[in-house]
Amino acid sequence: MPVPGLGPYDDGNIFARILRGEIPCRKIFENEHALAFHDIAPQAPVHVLVIPKLPYVSFADFSAKASPEAIAGFVRAVGQVARDLGLDEPGYRLIASMGADGGQEVPHFHVHLIGGTRLGRMVT
Ligand code: C5P
Repeated sequence: MPVPGLGPYDDGNIFARILRGEIPCRKIFENEHALAFHDIAPQAPVHVLVIPKLPYVSFADFSAKASPEAIAGFVRAVGQVARDLGLDEPGYRLIASMGADGGQEVPHFHVHLIGGTRLGRMVT
């Protein structure tokens, strides 16, 4: 089985299927750059995933290959989702798992936006 984050893009991955509307999600934001939806197994009171519309396997792939416009559009979308959720105050955490050691499970780049509680010091 290929290591998530490092192989070629797999069109059948679960987030690709969500983007194509084949699998439902609890969507909270969408524009030309990004889709955001509630994580199916939340680890905090707020746990949202933000994914780019374009097919990048991982942060490594996205950071190396996406256009400046796509990167800026994605980052702005993440910021807007956080603002829309009212998280700028008191704050939140962003996480992007990358590859095997990063614990990445879904091979479509995504950012976890986590908040709604005072988070502890980050270890894992
Ligand atoms: O960063 P990582 O790849 O480990 O995270 C994948 C995330 O996708 C998990 O938090 C999992 O709960 C979430 N997920 C989801 N909806 C699915 C499948 C996975 O929200 N249908």
